[in-house]
Amino acid sequence: MRFTASSARSIGTLRLKRNLESALKADAFPGLTSTSSFLQPCMSNKNSRFPTPNDALWLPYTQMATAPLPLVAVATEGVRIRLADGRDLIDGTSSWWTACHGYNHPHIQQAVKQQLEIMPHVMFGGLIHEPARQLASRLAALLPGDLNHVFFTDSGSVAVEVALKMARQYWMNQGQKNRSRIIYFRHGYHGDTFATMAICDPDEGMHAQFAGAMPKEIMAELPVDEKSQAAFEACLAQHAHEVAAVIIEPLVQGAGGMKMHDAATLARVAASCQRHQILLIADEIMTGFGRTGHLFACEEAKITPDIICLSKALTGGTLALAATVAREHIFTAFLSEEPQKALMHGPTFMANPLACAAANASLDLFEQEPRLNQVAALSKQLEQALAPCRWLSAVKEVRIKGAIGAVEMSKPMNLNAVRSQFAALGVWIRPFGQVIYLMPPLIISAQDLTVLTEAVIQVVTALDYAQ
Ligand code: PLP
Repeated sequence: MRFTASSARSIGTLRLKRNLESALKADAFPGLTSTSSFLQPCMSNKNSRFPTPNDALWLPYTQMATAPLPLVAVATEGVRIRLADGRDLIDGTSSWWTACHGYNHPHIQQAVKQQLEIMPHVMFGGLIHEPARQLASRLAALLPGDLNHVFFTDSGSVAVEVALKMARQYWMNQGQKNRSRIIYFRHGYHGDTFATMAICDPDEGMHAQFAGAMPKEIMAELPVDEKSQAAFEACLAQHAHEVAAVIIEPLVQGAGGMKMHDAATLARVAASCQRHQILLIADEIMTGFGRTGHLFACEEAKITPDIICLSKALTGGTLALAATVAREHIFTAFLSEEPQKALMHGPTFMANPLACAAANASLDLFEQEPRLNQVAALSKQLEQALAPCRWLSAVKEVRIKGAIGAVEMSKPMNLNAVRSQFAALGVWIRPFGQVIYLMPPLIISAQDLTVLTEAVIQVVTALDYAQ
């Protein structure tokens, strides 16, 4: 069937209307009736009590006074999240981009259970353990080039903090104390802690009001063509003497709007850094572990960054763990008779044995199961299934990379309303800004992915119709 804007619009709107109507009639989705608790704000006014037993919770990225009550998840299985009201939602987000093998994979469960019996946790200062040692050497073997030295932490933001510290101290340890600034890219996102907030897109990021409290880093445009490449080169030439590193999310800038660039752009960034002797940090917290089609996005551009940050899918989405991995020359710059040249960092729960066991089991699955082939198939299906959105005037752009499909709308949308519509359609899709995106577990079936893409088409076409 050949899609036009109007056919896409009418099919999508009709389907949406039909699905919502039957859902409401059957009272299957109590969340959509205006009197239901689903649409009630977390706190209706500042004197009222949060009306549920959850009132001790303070939720992320949420205006607690006005946000709809959150859904309550009680169980997960495969690609589904079971809600307290009995509904199952197909997860289009892999739980903030982590659950690459789907939920409750028996191999990971077994590894964690076994580790739980033996040693759930032990401090990592002065002690090491086999799960961490094994994981570090497996990561070193999988990562490109001589990215061989693994420093574990417990979240993505902290992994980036450690990378920034490593890069700055690399120069300090060589007597170049003034090389402390960081170059980052427009649309970049690297975390919510203060040093990472300073390298997020200042306009589109969520941290603009803290500008005065953060170090002033340098924002550049991605060198996507000759003109921007010349500007990037000029920026590096101007600041090389004071810059420690350039940081980039390779191929896909996630939380900054699912913006995508090609491998040639990434290769240009790496080459420019080398020319100006500036370190390159690849933040693969979102892109790592198959998401863009290679195990690591850097592989597609055939580059080896000086430092790489990993988290999210590292444990298959089961436990908090992150890693900052450095190349040989970075590591050796910290070797000295002088104690202050050591890396002074050590989160309490770094290298947690349960998390390392989960990560080792996750790597087993990448070895034993055809994840990258699955990504290629998902990519193809996303490309075909989301194509009708390209016809709609409410849509600015449709972008696909690996197992990521993003539909950028031309105008802001009512995020709470759109999120409710998705839940009513039986899917867990959480748009942000102007972007509706899919980042499903890599093991999702073609049928379940079709449910996700059809939901996107329906909601997007309804938005188009309404404008
Ligand atoms: N870097 C990137 C590219 C991310 O996408 C994120 C989180 O979305 C982070 C860093 C921060 O990770 P965390 O939320 O685990 O601190």
